[in-house]
Amino acid sequence: MTDSPLVVVEGLRKVYRTGPKEVVALRDVSFSVHPGELVAVRGRSGSGKTTLLNQIGGLDKPDAGRVVVDGHEVTALSEHGLLELRRDVVGFVFQSFGLIPVLSAAENVGVPMRLVRMPVAEREARVRMLLALVGLEQHVNQRPYELSGGQRQRVAIARSLANRPRLLVADEPTGQLDSQTGRQIMELLRALVRSEGVTALVATHDPSLITLADRVLEITDGAVHEPATLV
Ligand code: ADP
Ligand code: MG
Repeated sequence: MTDSPLVVVEGLRKVYRTGPKEVVALRDVSFSVHPGELVAVRGRSGSGKTTLLNQIGGLDKPDAGRVVVDGHEVTALSEHGLLELRRDVVGFVFQSFGLIPVLSAAENVGVPMRLVRMPVAEREARVRMLLALVGLEQHVNQRPYELSGGQRQRVAIARSLANRPRLLVADEPTGQLDSQTGRQIMELLRALVRSEGVTALVATHDPSLITLADRVLEITDGAVHEPATLV
């Protein structure tokens, strides 16, 4: 691939210290992700997937190493710079959806657009477009508790795309869904990476994503390696 990478991770190390105990959650992790790739991060519970995604998305700081996303050196950003990164460059999808319960699907998707003061007409049009993109045009006015788990995750995915992020970071997005719904969410992510030109990094142990991903990174006890062939 000739494009320069969208994500560069170099020598990343993260140690959690709780009292006298130390947990090395990431050990010398290096890899890069090219624009338009859908990369799965696979590893058992406790292997370091969330820690890795949090350093890349600017939710946490490593002990050593650097992360560059779309030319922004994440590991060198100030608090304000990190805020801008999370608002403008990276979209997040979490296992537990993270929707605001009192807001409708449309209002949830509109929240990031309000943060950048998008004009109202443009915001409303974009909210409608995004909810249609994830197949929820019939559900725009429903609140999260009036939606199924799969529908909630679709709202969260629409919201993650609100400000046209370059990178989508999804931490076990199907972890709370049954396998059939999970498969549909993974297929939606796969389709969006193609149609929206976004790049995605998805932590999962869901076998259905593994087959949809362009690449798989294996993480074992904080160390990342790339299997030679996709299975
Ligand atoms: P995964 O997402 O793959 O389940 P995590 O990144 O959450 O893994 O955790 C990696 C390791 O770091 C685990 O041993 C976990 O117990 C530890 N860990 C994660 N977060 C913290 C924290 N805030 N404080 C202390 N230890 C943590
Ligand atoms: Mg995790």
